[in-house]
Amino acid sequence: MKALIVDDAKVVRVALGRIMNQLGFESIDAADGQQALDQMEAHPDVDVVMLDWNMPVMNGYDFLVAMRGMEQHGSSPKVVMVTTETGMPSMLKALAAGADEYIMKPFDKEMVAGKLEIVGLECNA
Ligand SMILES: [Mg+2]
Repeated sequence: MKALIVDDAKVVRVALGRIMNQLGFESIDAADGQQALDQMEAHPDVDVVMLDWNMPVMNGYDFLVAMRGMEQHGSSPKVVMVTTETGMPSMLKALAAGADEYIMKPFDKEMVAGKLEIVGLECNA
């Protein structure tokens, strides 16, 4: 399975990429929402997007709205917000826009594995 990790902080992309690899996912990444849209076009087989909210160029929320708006009837990836934007209004806004789950930073492997299980993605570890 393939994960797209979207975060403007390289340290987060590296840490989350390592966790996703340990959980059996191939991972690709993007540093902002625009790069993430480009990655989705290049990799239509992405199973899950791990999505930061606050990023330059295009934030995670705007990416989410754009991506869900472009989806065809076929497969649509799960979206897990990984963010410090965890106030109830933000969470509800993201869920309404098509996010599936929420992880509050800082995260660890157990939290990530638990949320992936909730959204129905099998993990190897
Ligand atoms: Mg950020």
